[in-house]
Amino acid sequence: MEKPAISNFIRNLIDADLAQNKNQGRVATRFPPEPNGYLHIGHGKSICLNFGIAKDYQGSCNLRFDDTNPERENLEYVQSIKDDIAWLGYQWSELRFASDYFEQLYEYAIELITQGKAYVDSLSSDEIRSYRGTLTKSGKDSPFRNRSEEENLKLFKAMRAGEFEDGQHVLRAKIDMASPNINMRDPILYRIRHVSHYRTGNQWCIYPMYDYTHCISDAIEGITHSLCTLEFEDNRALYDWVLDQLDVPSHPQQIEFARLNLEHTVMSKRILNRLVDEDHVSGWDDPRLPTISGLRRRGYTPESIRDFCERIGVTKKQGTIAMGVLENSIREDLDQQAPRRMAVLDPLRVVIENYPKGQTETVTASNHPKFPQMGQRPLTFSGVIFIERDDFMESPAKKFFRLAPGREVRLRYAYYITCTDIIKDDRGEIIEIRCTYDPATKGGASADGRKVKGTIHWVSADHAANAEIRLYDRLFRVPNPAAKADFLEHVNPGSRVVLTRCKVEQGLVDAPPESRFQFERQGYFCTDRQDHSRSRPVFNRTVTLRDTWAKIGKTAGA
Ligand code: ATP
Ligand code: MG
Repeated sequence: MEKPAISNFIRNLIDADLAQNKNQGRVATRFPPEPNGYLHIGHGKSICLNFGIAKDYQGSCNLRFDDTNPERENLEYVQSIKDDIAWLGYQWSELRFASDYFEQLYEYAIELITQGKAYVDSLSSDEIRSYRGTLTKSGKDSPFRNRSEEENLKLFKAMRAGEFEDGQHVLRAKIDMASPNINMRDPILYRIRHVSHYRTGNQWCIYPMYDYTHCISDAIEGITHSLCTLEFEDNRALYDWVLDQLDVPSHPQQIEFARLNLEHTVMSKRILNRLVDEDHVSGWDDPRLPTISGLRRRGYTPESIRDFCERIGVTKKQGTIAMGVLENSIREDLDQQAPRRMAVLDPLRVVIENYPKGQTETVTASNHPKFPQMGQRPLTFSGVIFIERDDFMESPAKKFFRLAPGREVRLRYAYYITCTDIIKDDRGEIIEIRCTYDPATKGGASADGRKVKGTIHWVSADHAANAEIRLYDRLFRVPNPAAKADFLEHVNPGSRVVLTRCKVEQGLVDAPPESRFQFERQGYFCTDRQDHSRSRPVFNRTVTLRDTWAKIGKTAGA
């Protein structure tokens, strides 16, 4: 069952517009990614907002690729973005591409020139920058600002026809070089780029700038509420100016909200691109990345991501969300739906000496208090089992209540065992321990009411499957890596640990890719989307059972 959406200032603005029958009661949004990378959880926030509003107001939400930068865009990114949005559970009303509007955008530029609202400038890019002025210093008119309409038209057409080199001319809006808003100091509308575009090929050698393209694309599509992040606040004046000069089908309202920032990770496509290109991660879907495909591979569910985006809210206040908030969303979701299983990550062999040789028996695991059917299953028990190496200590530390020489513990769902002996190799490493079991404790409870302090998990040696388990943790050790010039130095070396000698309950090898489980006492895990198979089972740790970083932060005084 979907929870009703929490209101926010944007929904309040839409409600007010609807109360006045603005846009004839229509609500139309869009999600406008540039296909120059994979989507991340920040985009997820924007997706949930735009598609969520369309859904709740019976409106529409287009997926529009803002593909005006031919150098960095490609079809692989287009496909991944479509896949991720569908996986998140959203369906766009129409699929659009800004590049489909190139001809229209060109015609609108001609219209601006004819109105005396745009001109071809022939200053170099350095000169344009220095003429622009600063926040405290007004800009200066270009000597080409007063070219005649005829000359501007001739030059702009020649730009399109490919008669000039990159950078030789640009088309600029003629607004106000003294404006306190630098975006209004005759912004560039078109530049020359002799680069092939992944959709339009070599059809164009001039490309429209983002600001100019974005508002006109919104207007063409009849978007009513154009939602974007706060850094575009000062671009809104330009957005409105362009639409006011032209005879466009509609004038959408731009509304800005704060972008999502998350601790211990990065959200900038520039940095994500570097991490991928320079092989610091295995690809865009590396389970440590905050990309949608990375989170998916890690084991996040679409519901948990939507829940997270809902929980963090939509405001105008900049902030950074603790990673623990995202982790809690998946923990809560999986607590309710992940079947419980036992897996031993670092196996230690245990021989139960008084258990009849060659005998096996079935015990029943069924202790999940809230969802009994999720834990219930028959387990085979035998005289040789594996337990977790760190559930045994030869000289137990204070407060260590698990197995130790002479000590009795409970094997979950099975019996009490007592350690009687330790077998070591030549180097003094423990290779096996010997125990006895108490047949009167079947099911994990003693007949005489005797209590044990520790309960540990196990798998039967002959009835377990080998598996690879990948433990993932936060990619960066510091909360705000993007603020550091040497961010690569802060990558968490323990962010990926691959264990190849794990033992898991036999039935787990048959689980299809992307199956999610709780490994009791260990955390939530899922079968890897790419690498898991029956002959080579591979599990990813999605999240630990508790937030271990919160504890570390406290002891470090952070
Ligand atoms: P860049 O433009 O630098 O390539 P971008 O992150 O802005 O990167 P876009 O593809 O332009 O990427 O983003 C698509 C949409 O997602 C935009 O509307 C943008 O505002 C929104 N968006 C991007 N990052 C975040 C974020 N961290 N939080 C919320 N919304 C975001
Ligand atoms: Mg952007």
